[in-house]
Amino acid sequence: MPSLKCRCDNRIDFGQIPNPNEWLLVSDVAYDKYDGIVNSEDLYSEFEHALRCPNCQRLWVFWNGFSEEPTCYEAQPKKDQCTSNNKTRRVYIGYSTTLNGREMIQYFDIDPLHDDRLSKFEQNFGSPYIQPGSFEVYGKETYGNDFNAAYVKDLFPFDLEEIILSKISFDEARCVFFVETESVDIKSAKDATLLGPIDVEKYNFE
Ligand SMILES: [Zn+2]
Repeated sequence: MPSLKCRCDNRIDFGQIPNPNEWLLVSDVAYDKYDGIVNSEDLYSEFEHALRCPNCQRLWVFWNGFSEEPTCYEAQPKKDQCTSNNKTRRVYIGYSTTLNGREMIQYFDIDPLHDDRLSKFEQNFGSPYIQPGSFEVYGKETYGNDFNAAYVKDLFPFDLEEIILSKISFDEARCVFFVETESVDIKSAKDATLLGPIDVEKYNFE
């Protein structure tokens, strides 16, 4: 059965007829041509097709038919839910053996040389947009000899299983960080390696 892999890793099937994950869109202009009793097949030919992910509610709209890549639309929280979001958050723990803390912060900043000004992190890991303030970097240059698993564990604004940090060689790492993002395409790129994802309780670190 044909399916589409959503950014949340869910597979959305689109082989079923009728398809519970599929929605049909028609422009008001196209619909306006119709009047009175209409032939459903004629009307169907006007529709664009969209798939809605039952897991994350992202909408994948095939504006140019199924042969071209669909456009992805992500649901935003309602206004009054923005600040009091009490869901868990998905984070990845990362480290770099090549970049220090200051350089890693730049890695999350917009890259002026990139056409869409995506950060190096978004470019290299295929992550969706990283909100400012949804990552934090701990550089060895700041903590010196204290830079070890037990010390860094206490710097995180959420509880972290020690087993995760035990996968990082603190002798080699120049910085450790976490980043909140729904998904990444790969876990290891030239300047950073990611562990996780892990879902953590909401946290505050401002
Ligand atoms: Zn999804």
